[in-house]
Amino acid sequence: MAGECQGKRMSEQASGNDEMLPLMFEPEELKILLLTSEPTEHLWLRYLLEQSESFNSQLSWCYNLDELHELLNQELFDVVLWDCNCRDEDPLIFLGFLAIESDQTPVICLSAESERLMSKPIFQAGGADYLCKSLLSDSLLERSIRNAVLRHSVEQQQDTRSHIDTLTGIVNRRIFLDRLHQSILRAERNNEVLGLVFFNVDDFRSINDTFGYRSGDQLIKMLVSRLREDLRRSDSLARIGGDEFAIILENLDSTIDANHVTAKLLALFEDPFTIDHRQLLVTLSAGIATFPEAGQTSEHILKHANRAMLDAKREQGNSYHFYHQKMNVAVERELELEAEFRTALRDGQLRLYYQPRVSIANDQVVGYESLIRWEHPTRGLIMPDQFIPAAERSGMIVPMGYWVVEQACRDLALLQELGYDDLVCAVNLSFRQFYDKKLSETVFRIIYNADINTGNLEFELTESAMMYDQKYTQRCLEQLAQLGVSFSLDDFGTGYSSFANIQQLPISTIKIDKSFIDNVCTNVDDEVIVKAIISLAHNLQINVVAEGVEDKDQLDFLLANHCDEVQGYYYSKAVKLESFLTYLGSSRSQFSAVTGTTG
Ligand code: C2E
Ligand code: CA
Ligand code: CA
Repeated sequence: MAGECQGKRMSEQASGNDEMLPLMFEPEELKILLLTSEPTEHLWLRYLLEQSESFNSQLSWCYNLDELHELLNQELFDVVLWDCNCRDEDPLIFLGFLAIESDQTPVICLSAESERLMSKPIFQAGGADYLCKSLLSDSLLERSIRNAVLRHSVEQQQDTRSHIDTLTGIVNRRIFLDRLHQSILRAERNNEVLGLVFFNVDDFRSINDTFGYRSGDQLIKMLVSRLREDLRRSDSLARIGGDEFAIILENLDSTIDANHVTAKLLALFEDPFTIDHRQLLVTLSAGIATFPEAGQTSEHILKHANRAMLDAKREQGNSYHFYHQKMNVAVERELELEAEFRTALRDGQLRLYYQPRVSIANDQVVGYESLIRWEHPTRGLIMPDQFIPAAERSGMIVPMGYWVVEQACRDLALLQELGYDDLVCAVNLSFRQFYDKKLSETVFRIIYNADINTGNLEFELTESAMMYDQKYTQRCLEQLAQLGVSFSLDDFGTGYSSFANIQQLPISTIKIDKSFIDNVCTNVDDEVIVKAIISLAHNLQINVVAEGVEDKDQLDFLLANHCDEVQGYYYSKAVKLESFLTYLGSSRSQFSAVTGTTG
């Protein structure tokens, strides 16, 4: 019989003695792992377990370490029975190993040694029980298993209770601080911005006094579920005190992002809650502290967010404050800019400027890039770097982007009418514009109405556009490509640019980022990179434009290395349409003077 089981792991149902049990009791189902190298031991213990009336056991036998590892990875067991005699090494060390390997499943140890000798060290090493084999009976084994399982479940409950807030089911302050600490370490390692938002319900005490504690509790529960619905998965929400909550915002693009997320969360409380058929409008005050600005430790950051929350309390309604005064000023300025930008778009304060793209081979203008400017009535000309990031965050980039395409098409039509019908007009598309599910449809409509030769239109994309939703982006590009529009990849070399990605998309041009061109004549690394980009692109029949060319040395280097086109101050800055027309006129007449051609 022993030979039958040798080398086999048996997993089977020991049926128990069902008929003997009163009908109203379903015997408990316990998963038991038996660790012994002796097949006879296995059969004997299985027999004893089958006698149990209080549980049905599903016994898995495992006879060596590899098996053990595999089994513990596959299944969760209620209890492990371990025959200590079966291993040579110190049983106490092995018990420690088992505890980690089995994820703290209770382990009952069995051996031939007397209980008097073994019990104490086994318990000290974390064993759940010790049973001497010579005294073992079915009832003793049953009792030991039942107690071990019961004790373990009580311990687990206590453990969870000290981590989880029982009312809301979210983590409590203690575990939150621990998580915050981990998040800070991660942010530090990855050089990321981390935000902590601390919320407090305004006037919660009077809500409790007026409506009673039960309603207060109900409100807290509903409030948490509203917050949870809106949070990204990685964000972690905790209940810090009675009416206080905190959220960790990881991996923020900038500190200003914390402002946007908080504003969005507070907006969730504009609608009232319905409690006991009554409508209740609550407002929150929030404080934001960011890492690394507001401190290096979790306690510091939490304290500082709390302080900022107190400042927010002084304001009416939903409100929030940054711990850093300078952040409050920056946020205020950004909000002001955002509001003004809406007016700019509506009142026609935006302009498109054009910067020529010149073919190196013959010094001819072959195209141009459209670059947006904001002619502010009082602040003067504002450059895109100062408003595009805010427009992207607020979503205003979408209507702005359509305005740009429209204006560029209007001017392109004019240029085509004037005989400049071979120039490529490049228009920037932000990654954020791909959030708009009507992108290709709207662009199609604009192009269709503009009466232009679509073959002259090129969209400049950045890698971030492709990272957002690759399938959707690819579909958009393919749809637009069917209209004859072409695409270039902007700022090449700065992101995760890889030629493998480009090949999947209809991209015909890459624009080498200015940062590589800046030092191409003085820095060997940049020189090598630029040369490699050009040659790889040419192997794939991709046109190469160098951006930010400012001097003759750079131009000569690019010429010698067969770059196709250049763009930069060496030729011209971005200028208004009228100036661009003048530039075109003079460069064409220079060209015809040199080559003896006309037009
Ligand atoms: P970009 O697409 O990389 O545009 C090139 C930027 O480099 C332009 O800055 C241009 O004026 C500048 N530049 C060109 N040659 C030189 C040079 O030789 N030296 C120096 N120092 N700079 C040069 P600009 O116009 O300030 O635009 C900045 C960024 O704003 C653009 O970078 C683009 O990302 C964004 N942007 C501009 N217009 C639009 C637009 O219509 N839509 C979108 N989504 N983004 C735009
Ligand atoms: Ca560009
Ligand atoms: Ca660029």
